[in-house]
Amino acid sequence: MEKRVDLLIIGGGAAGIFAAIEAKRSHPEDSVLVLEKSAVLLSKVRISGGGRCNVTHACFDPLALSKNYPRGGNELIGPFHRFGPTDTIAWFEQHGVKLKTESDGRMFPTTDSSETIIHCLLDEAKKLGVEIALRQKVEQIVKTDEGFIINQIKAHRLLLATGSSPQGYEWAKQLGHTIQEPIPSLFTFNIPSSPLLDLSGVSLIAELKIAGTALSQTGPLLLTHFGFSGPAAIKLSAWAARELYAKNYRVDLVVNWLPKLSCEDIYQALLQLKNGSENVFYLPKNLWKHFVGDRKMKDFSNKDLRKLAEKLHADVYKVEGKTTNKEEFVTCGGVTLSEVNFQTMESKICPGLFFAGEILNIDGVTGGFNFQNAWTTGFIAGQN
Ligand SMILES: Cc1cc2nc3c(=O)[nH]c(=O)nc-3n(C[C@H](O)[C@H](O)[C@H](O)COP(=O)(O)OP(=O)(O)OC[C@H]3O[C@@H](n4cnc5c(N)ncnc54)[C@H](O)[C@@H]3O)c2cc1C
Repeated sequence: MEKRVDLLIIGGGAAGIFAAIEAKRSHPEDSVLVLEKSAVLLSKVRISGGGRCNVTHACFDPLALSKNYPRGGNELIGPFHRFGPTDTIAWFEQHGVKLKTESDGRMFPTTDSSETIIHCLLDEAKKLGVEIALRQKVEQIVKTDEGFIINQIKAHRLLLATGSSPQGYEWAKQLGHTIQEPIPSLFTFNIPSSPLLDLSGVSLIAELKIAGTALSQTGPLLLTHFGFSGPAAIKLSAWAARELYAKNYRVDLVVNWLPKLSCEDIYQALLQLKNGSENVFYLPKNLWKHFVGDRKMKDFSNKDLRKLAEKLHADVYKVEGKTTNKEEFVTCGGVTLSEVNFQTMESKICPGLFFAGEILNIDGVTGGFNFQNAWTTGFIAGQN
């Protein structure tokens, strides 16, 4: 039997469910149906942030917030004015979920459990009368003059919120859109030849730079048994996602272990050390030992010290691949942003078709920015 709905949403993730809630809240008379291919809703919310769900980031200026998106930042400035982190915090609070801010700006539910977010969203969807169908494999989308036909359902409007699913990109293509090639973002660096593999667990603030480019990040770097991880490495992987992919993840990475000092400052400080072997730079003990060994500073010639200063300032490591960061990863690429109206999230090519979330060529660095994209674009799509 034929069914008709005002809005059909494909994808029961963060963007799809948030859009469904806002659509039903702002247009209670409209019917909203979510089709989800798997047996569970919000599965990435569940595993996100190590099971705690890093919901958003405590960055409240839309322009500053937009700088955390290697792709999509400019397009998101307007939408963030309409639904940004302040609105996300207020929305969850109004629905009984308090968020807290950690020292690095990441925001989590005070329960430290992603289940809190899932229950909140699904309870609200249910309360408003959003219809949800699980295990729905969509075979085909047909565009008609009145809207769309999907699995024998006639939909006046269609929202694609399929995340990084290849099927979602394929439908967007069939409906006239161009897709920026999907590739990974937010990963860690494999450096099998690194002499620091034994220092796994050491963490410090450093600057990482991809040799021969202007791409760099300064922040917490974590030495691991396979190479480099931590926010500085993971953020660099996002900003350099396309360049790294093009080079098959084989590049020289230049580490500045003392990013606040110039090479000359380091040299001058080392000269002062000749009287003792104190580690004035407060580098982790093991790392300092890696650079100076058991030698006393007084045994270093000035030439040796110059060399050491240069190494501390620009130490080169050969990246030979990447490892998926289990805490958070995302896809770079997706629906071309110039083909979407960011006032409404409607396609400029196919009237009645909307997009929200990761299906778009938008991705943020680690820290809650990717969910903020899902809430923001989901909210705007739902309203329209
Ligand atoms: C391990 C991990 C941890 C993460 N942690 C964080 C974090 O803490 N903070 C943060 O900001 N971001 C985090 N992210 C990123 C964040 O999860 C995504 O950016 C976000 O989930 C995107 O939301 P979405 O709704 O667009 O897509 P998704 O959450 O991927 O949802 C898409 C939905 O569409 C469904 N679907 C796909 N194809 C079809 C189809 N053909 N028919 C029907 N349904 C379909 C999928 O099954 C899925 O349910 C994490 C990602 C991962 C992988």
